Amino acid sequence: MSTPTVACPTCGQAVAWLPENRYRPFCSERCKLIDLGEWAQERYTVPAAPVWDDGKTEQN
Ligand SMILES: [Zn+2]
Repeated sequence: MSTPTVACPTCGQAVAWLPENRYRPFCSERCKLIDLGEWAQERYTVPAAPVWDDGKTEQN
C-alpha cells in the first residue's frame, strides 16, 4: 500500500495526497499563496493545470 503523491505546482516537491494535507496539491500554505500570486501576474506556466472549473473566465 503506497501513498499517492503529486508534484507541488509551485516548487515541484513531491506531496503526499493525504486527507490531512489541507494544502494539496501544494506542499504548504506558502506554495499555495505563491501559486495564487503567479495567477495574478499571468505568469503561470506550470504544465499540469489545476482541476479548477475552467468553463468561463469572464469576471463580473
Ligand atoms: Zn511547494
